[in-house]
Amino acid sequence: MDVGAKAMAEEPRVNELLVRGIVVGLFAENCWIIGNRRTGEAICIDPGDQPQDILALARDLGVRIKLIVNSHGHLDHILGVRAIKEATGAKFLMHRDDLEIARSAGRSALMWLGRYVEPPPEPDAFIADEDEVDVDGVKLKVIHTPGHTPGSCSFYTEGMLFSGDTLFRGSIGRTDLPGGNYDQEMASIIDKLLKLPDETVVLPGHMEETRIGVEKATNPFILMELRRREQR
Ligand SMILES: [Zn+2]
Ligand SMILES: [Zn+2]
Repeated sequence: MDVGAKAMAEEPRVNELLVRGIVVGLFAENCWIIGNRRTGEAICIDPGDQPQDILALARDLGVRIKLIVNSHGHLDHILGVRAIKEATGAKFLMHRDDLEIARSAGRSALMWLGRYVEPPPEPDAFIADEDEVDVDGVKLKVIHTPGHTPGSCSFYTEGMLFSGDTLFRGSIGRTDLPGGNYDQEMASIIDKLLKLPDETVVLPGHMEETRIGVEKATNPFILMELRRREQR
């Protein structure tokens, strides 16, 4: 009995985390569930669409979504928030600077998807740089990474970075949409995200995962910006 309890206590905390992605919607967005297998509580990042599939994944994992956190307010990341919130009672958090973008997501859906979608609910609270958001057994550090949108945030926990639409494998988030700013995005990536350890696993808002070290060495946008800085 004692031995069992001791073994449990000594098990590294990382083993308690369950992390699963599900690709949802027309824009093939990665929604992430980060749960704790001991406490059964989970955070959902960017429920962009197909809320029933996201809820089914949480059920399969044996966790309850207690908190919804958005990397930014674009419609492909936010259209599932209302249904997940209604089904779970989870609180919804995002950065204040993306509020207008989030509020217009219903209208954008009509334009992009050709169907009416109820706009996302107002956030229960706002997140800011260096905040920590948590449920029992899962804690995310907020890194404000503006550029793709003014309120874009990335989230770090236990050697993993959820980079939203800021950093992708071999690419970066587009900056030609309203509120986008290329220089700001490169500063967010280089001065904030690349400061993380090279072995950090990057789980982005679209496409496959990567690592910070791989992007530092091979991402053409990053290499170009680093060269530009050297020449200054
Ligand atoms: Zn986006
Ligand atoms: Zn996106």
